[in-house]
Amino acid sequence: MSRSAHPAGPRHADVLPEGHPSAPPADLNALDGKVWASTVTRTPDGVVTVGGIEVTTLAEEFGTPAYFLDETDFRERARAWRTAFGPDADVFYAGKAFLSRAVVRWLHDEGLNLDVCSGGELTTALSAGMPADRIAFHGNNKSVEEIETAIRAGVGRIVLDSFQEIVRVAHIAQSLGKRQRVQIRITVGVEAHTHEFIATAHEDQKFGIPLAGGQAAEAVRRALQLDGLELIGIHSHIGSQIFDMSGFEVAAHRVVGLLKGIRDEHGVELPEIDLGGGLGIAYTSDDDPREPHEIAKALTEIVSRECETARLRTPRISVEPGRAIVGPTAFTLYEVGTIKPLDGLRTYVSVDGGMSDNIRTALYDAEYSVALVSRTSEAAPMLVRVVGKHCESGDIVVKDAFLPADLAPGDLIAVPATGAYCRSMASNYNHALRPPVVAVREGEARVIVRRETEEDLLRLDVG
Ligand SMILES: *Cc1c(COP(=O)(O)O)cnc(C)c1O
Repeated sequence: MSRSAHPAGPRHADVLPEGHPSAPPADLNALDGKVWASTVTRTPDGVVTVGGIEVTTLAEEFGTPAYFLDETDFRERARAWRTAFGPDADVFYAGKAFLSRAVVRWLHDEGLNLDVCSGGELTTALSAGMPADRIAFHGNNKSVEEIETAIRAGVGRIVLDSFQEIVRVAHIAQSLGKRQRVQIRITVGVEAHTHEFIATAHEDQKFGIPLAGGQAAEAVRRALQLDGLELIGIHSHIGSQIFDMSGFEVAAHRVVGLLKGIRDEHGVELPEIDLGGGLGIAYTSDDDPREPHEIAKALTEIVSRECETARLRTPRISVEPGRAIVGPTAFTLYEVGTIKPLDGLRTYVSVDGGMSDNIRTALYDAEYSVALVSRTSEAAPMLVRVVGKHCESGDIVVKDAFLPADLAPGDLIAVPATGAYCRSMASNYNHALRPPVVAVREGEARVIVRRETEEDLLRLDVG
């Protein structure tokens, strides 16, 4: 992930290992509101609170490591997206970022729809009362069983990802006596990550049907002929952790171009366009994400303008934010176990979790920040690498960060912005017990996903 287009803070080349993003913050005790959930604050006695509860109390009651999710913040973010897009658009929360039954109920309350991409996610959504017609089913290789379950349940749309799936879904729908609403996922030759996007002629990835070479147009041709399908629109998802709207601009231009081609060839104006998710959040103070209302305004304007030029009725837009809703709402709380200074290099701080609760640093070289949250400190900043307890040297939670030099075993540290793709990607590596997710709201904390136990591990081991 290149950060080249990104303004870094002042560099301390002589004291910091090469590639380190920035100098220590002016005040290590300060909590940057950009990366912390909205109710997180530090009390006058120095302990950090979320939803009015001190992290020391939370650690005593729920143990560490644990994810603490600010329900107020989650609902505010969900509502901000819903409000920004208004009644003429749909917001689908991408369940893969983090899904639990409580989350499904919050989304339902706040008027959002839901994306799922497996039978397990679908079951979770339905069991928590999300109406099937507000669910979209994604994935590049849905099984026959999953497709059957989804169609029987009456999901609002299935997003078709391949030529085989067009036929498969049509066949299953027909055999169930149904006509399934579908979108076709296309790849528009735009790939966006963080601050940059690249537009290429061809797409080399497993998702979607390429626009290039007329494949997407051919997919539409086939879908329109099949009785089991009602083609309602075109879907495009260009990447993740995106800050730059120009990728969406190119994508929308190309999707609308396809809609125009469909109108010209078949005399059909498809009523919907889905621009996917991928909107970025602040993992560190260096990131400057956009607000939902800015994103809504930009996307709506882009699509209307493109449609006007193509003389098409503006289709209903849908978007699929995952990370942008849940990411900033949670932090992971760890207890410091060991501290190992390596002369002239850095100090390794080991915590009681690691790659089993946050794989993103190892997987994507993701950046995070960290803070001492059980007390304040006036000690000098020390450059640290926060690592886990797993049997991999790549078991890194926070690559480079500053913590106070008087950090000691038993201190609680927290990594913010871990609401998305952390618990949902958590593993049992080294037979770790996956941490709980605790929702905190207005002075009350409640477990929404409980901590795994050794009994859970042994229950699966039936040999
Ligand atoms: C992953 C994904 C999303 C959500 O991405 P975020 O980065 O969490 O916003 C939305 N739509 C599709 C199709 C996806 O695969």
